[in-house]
Amino acid sequence: MAAASQARKLRGPQDLEIIALERGEFTSYSACGIPYWVGDQVTNGPDSLVARDPRTFREKYAVDVRLHHRVTSFDLSAGLLAMSDDATGAELALRFDHLVIGTGAAPVRPPWFTEAIEDEVSGVHFAQTLPQGAGLRDEVAGLPGGRAVVCGGGYIGVEIADALHRRGLQVTVVSRSPELMSSLDADIAVELRTAMEKVGITVLTGTSAAGLTSADGHVTGG
Ligand SMILES: Cc1cc2nc3c(=O)[nH]c(=O)nc-3n(C[C@H](O)[C@H](O)[C@H](O)COP(=O)(O)OP(=O)(O)OC[C@H]3O[C@@H](n4cnc5c(N)ncnc54)[C@H](O)[C@@H]3O)c2cc1C
Repeated sequence: MAAASQARKLRGPQDLEIIALERGEFTSYSACGIPYWVGDQVTNGPDSLVARDPRTFREKYAVDVRLHHRVTSFDLSAGLLAMSDDATGAELALRFDHLVIGTGAAPVRPPWFTEAIEDEVSGVHFAQTLPQGAGLRDEVAGLPGGRAVVCGGGYIGVEIADALHRRGLQVTVVSRSPELMSSLDADIAVELRTAMEKVGITVLTGTSAAGLTSADGHVTGG
C-alpha cells in the first residue's frame, strides 16, 4: 500500500489507475503491534492497529482496493494476472501495464510441522496477521495459568513470550540459536535472557523443537 500511495502522489487518477489486490481483509496494519495486542497492552485491537483502512485508500488516494482477492499467477509478457475472489469463489483475470509485488514473507515452518498437523491439531498459532493474533488472543483468554511454548527466539518470539507471560501463562522459549535474538551483540543477548528468566520465563537456547504431541486434536506438549 506504500507503493500504491507513492504512485498516486506521482500520478493523478486521470493519469494512472491503481488497483490493490489483497487476499486478506485488512490493509496497512501494524503487525508490530500484534504481540502488544496479545499482551493486552494495546486496546481496541484490531482497529487501533490499522493505520489506513481500504475506505481511506479508496476515498483519499483513489486506489481501488479489492479485499479477499488472491493473486494466483501472472504472465508478465501478456500483462495479465489471474486471481481468485475468495469471498465469492470467482476466478478472475486482470490486465496491467505495471505490476508491483508486495506479498510479504511467511513464517518458517519446522519440517515436522506438516499440513496434516496444521489442519488436525488445534492450539498451535502463528503471529503474523491480525486474524492470527485474534486466534491467539482467544486461546489465551481460555487458558488462564496454562503453559505456552514459543518456538523461535528472534524478536517476534521474545515479544510474544513477554505478551503470554503478561497474560499469566507459564512460558518456555525454545531457540535453536546459541542465544536469543541473534541480531543483538552476545553480551546484550545475555542481559535479555537474564531479564526474561528473572520474571519466570524459561529460555532454552541451542535447542530445536523436534515435534509436538497432541490429545483429542489439541496440542499437549513438544
Ligand atoms: C509479530 C510481528 C512483529 C513485528 N514487529 C516489527 C517491528 O517492531 N518493527 C519492524 O520494523 N517490523 C516488524 N515486523 C515486520 C513487519 O511487520 C514486516 O516487515 C512488514 O509487515 C512487511 O511488509 P510487507 O508489505 O512486505 O508484507 P506484509 O505486511 O506481510 O504484507 C503482504 C500482504 O500481501 C498479502 N498477500 C500475500 N500473498 C498474496 C496474494 N497471492 N494475493 C494477494 N495478496 C497477497 C498478504 O495478505 C499481506 O497482507 C513485525 C512482524 C510481525 C509478524
